[in-house]
Amino acid sequence: MDIYLATGNAHKAEEFGRLFAQAGLRKVKVRSARELGGMPHVDEVTGTFRGNCRLKADALRAIAPEKSWVLADDSGLCCDALQGGPGVDSAVYAGPRATDAENRAKLLQAMGKTPPSRRGARFECHLILLGPRGESEHFLGQCPGRILESERGEGGFGYDSLFVPAGETRTYGELPASVKDTSSHRARAFALLADWLRERGVA
Ligand code: IMP
Repeated sequence: MDIYLATGNAHKAEEFGRLFAQAGLRKVKVRSARELGGMPHVDEVTGTFRGNCRLKADALRAIAPEKSWVLADDSGLCCDALQGGPGVDSAVYAGPRATDAENRAKLLQAMGKTPPSRRGARFECHLILLGPRGESEHFLGQCPGRILESERGEGGFGYDSLFVPAGETRTYGELPASVKDTSSHRARAFALLADWLRERGVA
């Protein structure tokens, strides 16, 4: 079973590669959108994670080999004090070509002196798997936590160095990838996907 990943984000592709390897789904061959000439450009205009995820899945489905499967994800950070923001705009929070560091700086500024009791947040990850015969499955993973007042740790990407997952004292920028791979929003959505695949004999 060939599954093409509908992402141009090397960090995400790497995380998915690790997740598939750890899940022991030996019949799955993870393939990159790069093998198809790159992830097609998608304007993420739907205003929802799930809607944007579907756009990405459809865009890659259109150029993927007929018998293959396509897996798209859309994810982001939702902060209570920002009414769920930056949400679907997480990647472009500080502007269309913003770097992760610029996005983090904007988040710190927006959160300002918000007290610890109101610094709750969650990462959300939506996955959509499209099959060769019109199969379409949606999986949702959420990871609750809180936003610090300054960055800690060099690991990870995006908002990792500002986010402490519930039950931890260290950020995803400080925690080893092995911890993130078991508790993150992407890991939780992926676990549901892996169960779905195993139930269908893809192991
Ligand atoms: P997407 O590529 O449109 O799904 O945008 C996801 C954005 O959300 C990324 O660019 C990051 O800013 C943020 N994000 C998603 N997942 C993570 C994560 O695991 N750690 C840190 N930031 C993340």
